[in-house]
Amino acid sequence: MTAPDGTPGAVPGGAAGALAEQPHRRLDLLSGEWVLVSPHRARRPWQGQVERPASEVRPAYDPTCYLCPGNERAGGHRNPDYTGTFVFDNDFAALRPGDPPAAVDVRGLLVARSEPGVCRVICFSPRHDLSLPDMAPAAVRGVVDVWTEEYERLGARSDIGYVQIFENKGQAMGASNPHPHGQIWAQRSVPREPARETVRFREHRERHGRTLLEDYLRLELELGERVVLANDAFVALVPFWAVWPFETLVVSRRPVPSLSALDAAERDGLADIVRRLTARYDNLFEVSFPYSAGFHQAPTDGQPHPEWHLHLHFYPPLLRSATVRKFLVGYEMLGEPQRDLTAETAAERLRALPDAPYRAGGGA
Ligand SMILES: [Zn+2]
Ligand SMILES: [Zn+2]
Repeated sequence: MTAPDGTPGAVPGGAAGALAEQPHRRLDLLSGEWVLVSPHRARRPWQGQVERPASEVRPAYDPTCYLCPGNERAGGHRNPDYTGTFVFDNDFAALRPGDPPAAVDVRGLLVARSEPGVCRVICFSPRHDLSLPDMAPAAVRGVVDVWTEEYERLGARSDIGYVQIFENKGQAMGASNPHPHGQIWAQRSVPREPARETVRFREHRERHGRTLLEDYLRLELELGERVVLANDAFVALVPFWAVWPFETLVVSRRPVPSLSALDAAERDGLADIVRRLTARYDNLFEVSFPYSAGFHQAPTDGQPHPEWHLHLHFYPPLLRSATVRKFLVGYEMLGEPQRDLTAETAAERLRALPDAPYRAGGGA
């Protein structure tokens, strides 16, 4: 595999040029791994599983929801009557702080280490019936502020080397509760995905003196064919190497390492692009669009990370309607990820959609 040399040169023409109609592999710049693309296969008939869209009518307050204001959670905790965002330690945390350090190494074959950490839950809104695209711009900006505060506060701890902020939305992605919320898992080690990106980012910065995503973003803005939407601070695009059908990458225009480095206008820009992108997702199949999304940003391991460039991945599972999802199975589990719809076609479809919320009655 080759790293991009950062100089203008043989840029493939529209839709990956000569490869637009034939099976090919694309290099994922961020992981250094390959993705198989089979554009001719997108027309095959589908007779497999059909997802049932979840019922869209939800009350503004649900007395049985453990995330709604004033309600009781597991272990006797009661939520305050919050009016904006609300953050608390996950009652069923996958990580916990304070255990004594321990390690196992049996002949170098069975290797394990203790992993301290903290899991937090962020309610985006007191309203049970909203999601990010339904919320007012100022309310989404409030969520951006909480993400930033949590990154800074958790990242400042000596036992935390990485802060993973993410959202699982919709039953199709295994979300346990429809109340709009996200999670933070902060831990001592840098987990696999951002660790791989760190290696790629460092290589590029050493060779070119710029961040990898700074160069990649410049090229995508020149070509335009995979850009979905943009504002003064952020660009949303379908990455050339996307695996999920409508996967997107949201990249800061300024090569900043983390949320902490954003100024007030850039925080507004982040809120704006998240809101508009998720609204387009809802509008795509006229459904509250499921996805897993999350930030990748500089580790908080005490080292300087000038190679890092803040970005947000959206991984939605839906393929061609609200009821047909993509599975990563068979060849994808055993060989490598594969897609039929090209990144260029996906971007074209997302670009054509309106930014207005799909669902009426939001705005809180
Ligand atoms: Zn609720
Ligand atoms: Zn990433």
